[in-house]
Amino acid sequence: MKTYDRIATKICDCHVHYGQFREDCYDPKELVQWFDELGIDKVGIMPISMESDFPQDQKIMKLLPQKRFVPYLWVNPEMVDADPSLKIYDTLNYKVIKIHSYARKEWDTMPDKIRTVIQAAYIKSVPVMFHTGGWRGSNAIQFYKFCREFPEVTFILAHGKPISQTLTVLKGAKNAYVDNSFMDIESIKMVCDAGLSSRILFGTDFPIMKTFWPEINLVDWYKNHVIELIQTFGEKDFMVWANENFYKLILK
Ligand SMILES: [Zn+2]
Repeated sequence: MKTYDRIATKICDCHVHYGQFREDCYDPKELVQWFDELGIDKVGIMPISMESDFPQDQKIMKLLPQKRFVPYLWVNPEMVDADPSLKIYDTLNYKVIKIHSYARKEWDTMPDKIRTVIQAAYIKSVPVMFHTGGWRGSNAIQFYKFCREFPEVTFILAHGKPISQTLTVLKGAKNAYVDNSFMDIESIKMVCDAGLSSRILFGTDFPIMKTFWPEINLVDWYKNHVIELIQTFGEKDFMVWANENFYKLILK
């Protein structure tokens, strides 16, 4: 764990949740403790909510230590209806907008509403993160057109699924990035082999792996995961994903 301890304070994780996921509820207070133990630099934080409860989410995120936790705006279609400029959500001081068209499948039928969100992100100069994978309507290729239409906006394809489509998007749009949450080592290798390593952001989807693998210790899992990435891809590349890109794209 020497390597982990040496670099921990430089690690930024661009994909972390709190709240209810299936049978499990991840308490924000627990998250604060886990990340105190892990000692990383920044945590990009968002709810896992199907239903939007912006006032509640804002309250929760404001209570998290501001030095470490970086709030993201989880946007649902009805939040765009309430204010297409998204200005009413500025009080959150968010750094990324997240669209989850697996949790809310109707996004797939609303490309113009997605464009409205992207327009707001452009004005605010924040990246848009799309969940990818799970069904046709949230597969990576669905977001290719938006990446091409808005070359000045940064897009993050969370999970990079399916990987073949993700590679197509990354190759065709310089403003597209991928976060490696729930990406297997082989898929990450494919991104690197295509010469696109610099387009990866380190993300984990912490702590919801606990729902899939209830027997794990989350803190141990996290440290081992970081070590595995460094052993496989080298510390230099990992620090681009986990530090340089986070500061360049999200905390700019
Ligand atoms: Zn997630």
